Amino acid sequence: MSQPSIGFIGLGTMGEPMATRLAQAGFDLTVSDLNDAAVERLVALGAKRASDPAAVAAQAEIIFASLPTPDVVQKVALGDRGVVTGGKVRVFVDLSTTGPRTAKRVAEALARNDIIAVDCPVSGGAAGAEKGTLALMTSGPASVNEQLQPILAHLGKVIYCGEGAGLGQTMKLVNNLVSVTALAVSSEALVMGVKAGLDPQVMLDVFNAGSGRNSATVDKLPRAVLPRTFDFGFSTALSLKDTRLCLDEAEAMGVPMPVGSAVRQVLNMTRAAFGDNADFTRMVCLIEQWAGVEVPVSPKENN
Ligand code: NAD
Repeated sequence: MSQPSIGFIGLGTMGEPMATRLAQAGFDLTVSDLNDAAVERLVALGAKRASDPAAVAAQAEIIFASLPTPDVVQKVALGDRGVVTGGKVRVFVDLSTTGPRTAKRVAEALARNDIIAVDCPVSGGAAGAEKGTLALMTSGPASVNEQLQPILAHLGKVIYCGEGAGLGQTMKLVNNLVSVTALAVSSEALVMGVKAGLDPQVMLDVFNAGSGRNSATVDKLPRAVLPRTFDFGFSTALSLKDTRLCLDEAEAMGVPMPVGSAVRQVLNMTRAAFGDNADFTRMVCLIEQWAGVEVPVSPKENN
């Protein structure tokens, strides 16, 4: 698969920087999005414009998608003017977070048209997408994954999760559940400590030198909560979508998740209080309101 033609559908917060890296790496790239301004920015970098997913599939051997929800991915992959109808496409790589059942459904339907599906959800946020330092959790046929490696290497580090369709998606969902659960319980601990008279920076120093260390104490709290900027870069709506997908899959599999269910309600309450677009680190403000105390502001440069 030397220098295959590439398609990219979905040029949003994650998709645009990823497609930009592929354009800058010199790949033959065709792009499509409902947002014309994002398409224009890629065309300015040398990409070709396609009117819809079918038109991308007529131009490109390998198509990447970075789309918001399972419904949109299914429409783009399998709809009337979907990837499934195109003539040139051989591989469809879904970079979105859509859950294993969508991945399996899409893989089965595309396979009937000789198109191989690879699920490849990503972790690392917009900053990781810009720098090419994402974690990419792939699954699907091993030989296809090997062929994709030189392209995916421009986006970040690839971790192969296995042959079965949806394994990468399952890995992504449980990773994000662990991440948001760590944030929720670390926020509760922070507020309790402050109410008791502890300095929040001292709390983080102890957590990070001890057994309480996690991705919230190392990164989210010092970066977005102590400075009270609440700008970590992940919305409450997206975190709620990921958590809901994870709990739905777990329930369908017969795996009870009482702790995850409680975290889902914390996200629901955060959304009710602050809105869909509020950064998910805002959840600490709810706990502050209930506790009647506020974590004092620490300047960013001290964290
Ligand atoms: P986004 O909403 O910013 O971008 C989605 C893009 O898809 C938009 O540009 C939209 O115009 C386009 N789109 C929607 N419907 C379309 C259609 N029918 N045809 C063509 N284009 C269409 O979302 P995002 O933040 O870039 O996230 C994309 C995916 O990556 C989601 O599944 C999300 O859960 C996942 N993800 C996001 C982050 C993050 O930090 N934002 C991190 C990891 C994974």
